[in-house]
Amino acid sequence: MKFYSTNNTSTRVSFKEAVFNSMPQDKGLYMPVSIPRLDDKFLNNLDEYTLPEIAFHVAKNLLGDDIPENDLKDIIEDAINFYAPVVELEENVYVLELFHGPSLAFKDFGARFMSRVMSYFLEEGEKQLDVLVATSGDTGGAVALGFLGVPNTRVTILYPKGKVSGIQELQLTTNGQNIRAIEIDGTFDDCQSLVKQAFTDPELNEKFRLTSANSINIARLIPQTFYYFNAYAQLLKEGQSNVVFAVPSGNFGNIGAGLLAWKMGLPVDQFIAATNANDTVPEFLKTGVYQPKPSVQTISNAMDVGNPSNWVRIADLFKGDEGKLKRLITGFSFNDSETREAIEKIHSSYNYIACPHTAIAWQALKDWQQDQPTGKTAGIFLSTAHPCKFPDVLPAHIAKAIQIPEEVKELEGKTKHAAALGTDFEGFKRYLLENN
Ligand SMILES: *Cc1c(COP(=O)(O)O)cnc(C)c1O
Repeated sequence: MKFYSTNNTSTRVSFKEAVFNSMPQDKGLYMPVSIPRLDDKFLNNLDEYTLPEIAFHVAKNLLGDDIPENDLKDIIEDAINFYAPVVELEENVYVLELFHGPSLAFKDFGARFMSRVMSYFLEEGEKQLDVLVATSGDTGGAVALGFLGVPNTRVTILYPKGKVSGIQELQLTTNGQNIRAIEIDGTFDDCQSLVKQAFTDPELNEKFRLTSANSINIARLIPQTFYYFNAYAQLLKEGQSNVVFAVPSGNFGNIGAGLLAWKMGLPVDQFIAATNANDTVPEFLKTGVYQPKPSVQTISNAMDVGNPSNWVRIADLFKGDEGKLKRLITGFSFNDSETREAIEKIHSSYNYIACPHTAIAWQALKDWQQDQPTGKTAGIFLSTAHPCKFPDVLPAHIAKAIQIPEEVKELEGKTKHAAALGTDFEGFKRYLLENN
């Protein structure tokens, strides 16, 4: 499969080039030249396949011969080595738990697949790959664990001091090996701006082979389509074939992958885009005007995005048919007090604990269902992170009740190792040059 840039549809690059470049020079995003529909035999019998089998089928459909079948199977089995169960909470309300990977967030799907694809394409004798990643919390952990121990790669994570949760910080700073962390005395935007400057600095680019692991990389998007098919398969087993997905959204990579799955033939009539107060997309769906704004801080901070970078991909999927886009996606946004209320309601109704991002998706699904004829459609809301990653924003009585996974208990005994830097680029550059 070849890829083009959303800013220049006559560009053609290989999958390998799209993965290592992350973003085309013209600042568009890579998209597959065609999105083939999966064969009917597969689509009609999804319930007979396991998650790795589904993943292989879907990846193969999109990538063609870019990676030979056996290698692709190995990559998938190594990357997607955890479950994505759908759990019923009440009639027609299901949660798709995407937090059973090593960093306890759905970003493990994208980061683990991408790291293995990059390592696969790195040829013997090639220069070490230096992955720079700015994180507001979840991306850094997933990328770190995705690349941990991967030969010929090194990851440098920048995170804003004091602005990630305790568990997130331990996930970023206790890995050792080929992973290092820098705490920046600033905001997430400062971290991102340092990374961006590094990519345009001639001296650093001369010295290092820099690449980015952020969510716009096409190799992070593709594996996120897998769990939509797998979730649908799980409901098929229960005799449900009318399904809607509610997706907690920030950069719109996750829901973008859902729409890509739809384009490949996943029979879903409706996607619900759920945001916090950063409501650029719900506003667009309501008014028809796409107006990016500066992000505002909320308790669901992994979704604090005012100008979602993956939106151009979604627009590209529906170019020439904006009406279809507006019929297929419904938007909802909720503020922090509504988010807290949703967390309380989920806990009291089902004795289930949702992280703030997940709670927003649940509320959006419930609001959407209110306006629908009852009984026909099963709603699946995506749970993007384990609640133990956000104890400080949950009400105390709920935070206390969280069952802490074993791997988190192990983390708690480890020591943090992080360099501490300010927000000036010269200081960051000096650190990179001196710590080679
Ligand atoms: C990254 C993240 C999101 C937002 O996902 P997008 O793909 O950026 O829309 C939602 N929830 C959690 C927990 C996240 O880490």
